[in-house]
Parts: sequence; structure tokens; C-alpha cells
Amino acid sequence: MKPFRVAIIGYGKIAEDEHIPSIAANPRFELAAAVGSRAPKSEAVPSFRRHREMLESVRDLDAVAICTPPSARYDIARDCIDAGLHCLLEKPPATTLSEIEDLACLAEGRQLTLFTTWHSQYNPAIDAAAAALAGKRIARMRIDWRESVRKWHPGQRWIWEVGGFGVFDPGINALSIASKIFPGPLFVREARLSVPENLQMPIAADIVFSSPDADGEVSAGFDWREESDETWTIEVETSDGLSLRLSNGGARLEIEEGETVEAERSEYPRIYERFAQLLDERCSLVDVAPLRLTADAFLVGSRVSVEPFLE
Ligand code: NAP
Repeated sequence: MKPFRVAIIGYGKIAEDEHIPSIAANPRFELAAAVGSRAPKSEAVPSFRRHREMLESVRDLDAVAICTPPSARYDIARDCIDAGLHCLLEKPPATTLSEIEDLACLAEGRQLTLFTTWHSQYNPAIDAAAAALAGKRIARMRIDWRESVRKWHPGQRWIWEVGGFGVFDPGINALSIASKIFPGPLFVREARLSVPENLQMPIAADIVFSSPDADGEVSAGFDWREESDETWTIEVETSDGLSLRLSNGGARLEIEEGETVEAERSEYPRIYERFAQLLDERCSLVDVAPLRLTADAFLVGSRVSVEPFLE
């Protein structure tokens, strides 16, 4: 079967660490081009500084994987859909809900696949947690997502700019897990966004959720000021007495009585397997739930000014 010819647009950290190896390891895909100043120069895979140059020069493309920061994603995706290409979108899929809704309409109109990827959902532990919680009432859920921004985002100015999401850049990963495993609707009731005096986006956030399916507190704390080891955990207790704990960003699940689900790192290979399925079926997968929760946190959140952050 002829592989899908895919171009990477936005050749930064995630493209290099995850997309390139996942494409190389999947016979259903062939890397056809790359866009970005850091893209390697190669005869086999031409590189370009701008996506429009690439669209004009590279023939026989089937799809693109758009791995830029979110603020650039809408314009690029729109151009790619206009050019008749299927689109895989890195998370978050756009800066606003209106943008992603418009892309979904455009892709549907052209019968193209649009795929919003939420990499943290692509762990066997997440599927197992969702299955364990299905149909249950929640007594308590606590999300803790704390890491060092200096360690995980060195030199990335875009995360602090308007539309860069700040601490919600990693926090939205937790929300993508929560929206997948929580057995009912989840709403942001209150949020406190801690924004450094010298920057635009929050460095920390505390969120309280409500849900008709929760009997107790459902809350989250995101913090980028953690200088010791990172914490990426979600703990859940159900009203009928089940406890489970997701750790390592959703890669490991412990259910009471010692049952553990843990897999080798498989998020991006699974994302490309799903992309191939969607392309075969000519379907889209557009999940906006994590972006909606983030938007709601910004809408209802109170903003607290905290000490300046200097990298
Ligand atoms: P990055 O290292 O800063 O790379 C961003 C890339 O996008 C670079 O190739 C850059 O091109 C390009 N770019 C930046 N602004 C652009 C614009 N306005 N128009 C076109 N291209 C632009 O960022 P990253 O860490 O890879 O993150 C990219 C996305 O992946 C984000 O949405 C992030 O949330 C997501 N993600 C990141 C990670 C991670 O561990 N880093 C994990 C999962 C998901 P130039 O080099 O030419 O400037």
C-alpha cells in the first residue's frame, strides 16, 4: 500500500523528538517535507522556511502535521485545507474554540481528515482508567501538574505571549486526560490564575470543577515554579469506594489492590496509528473538550499578580 506523504510544519522540539521518529517507524507514512528554520537540509526531504513555499513546491502531498505553537495553527491549517491536505494538529489545536470550529467545517466541506491530537490520551493507562470509572459517581478527584518551566520550556518565549497558554500548555494535557476519564460532564466553577507581573500568561493555576456526577471536591493545581521533580498525577476516588491514581503524565495507572497498568512510551506511535485509521476511513476526530475547559478557566478565572519571572 502506498504510504501517505506527510509534511511536518513547525520543526521544533516536539516535531524532532516525537513526530519524526513516529513517522519513520510507521510504514503507512512517508516524510515528504519539513517547514521551519531548524529543519535539516536533505535532498530526500526538502525543507522550507514558510509553509506557503512548501505548499507551492511539493507535489503529491497527502497530509500535514502542524507542530507550531498554537497561535500560528489556524492560518496554516486553513491554507493546508484549501490546498486539499488532511491535517493532524498538535495540541492545543487552536488558540480559540471559534478557530477550531471553523477548521472542522472547512475540513468537512472538503471531505478531508482533521485530527486534533491530545498526546496524553494515547496511553493504555488512560483507556483502563476510563473503563474503571465508567458509570460511577466521583467522590473526589485531584489533579496535580507541577514542573519546572525552566527545565521543560527553555527559551520558548511564545508560551508567555497572549495565546501561548502559559501553564495551561502542560495543564491542558491533564485536562485532556480528565475529560477522557471523568464519567460525566465537567465544568470549571472557579479558577485562580497566577500571572507574573512582567508577563501575560499564568505561571500557576488553581481550578475547582463542578459536575452533576461528583459528590465531593474535583480540583486541579498547575504550577510551573516546581524546581524539584515534576508531579503529573490524577487521583480519583469513586463514591462506591474505588481508588485509582494516574502518574507519570498518564503513563502509569494504579488501581487499589495492587493492579497496575503501565506501558512503554507509546503516545506518538499510537497517534500516527490513529491518523492512518482516520485517513483510511476518511473521518475526522475533532475533540475540543480540553480546549473548552481551558477557555472556561480563563473566562471565570480571577487573575492574581505574582512576582516577576525571569528565565
Ligand atoms: P518549539 O520547540 O518552540 O517549536 C516550534 C516550531 O514552530 C518551530 O519550528 C518554529 O519555527 C515554528 N513556529 C513558531 N512560530 C511560528 C509561526 N508563527 N509560524 C510558523 N511556524 C512557527 O515548540 P514545541 O515545544 O515543539 O511545541 C510546539 C507545539 O507542540 C505546541 O503547541 C506544544 O504545546 C506542543 N507540544 C510540545 C511538547 C514538548 O514537549 N515540547 C509536547 C507535546 C506537545 P522556527 O524554528 O522557524 O522559528
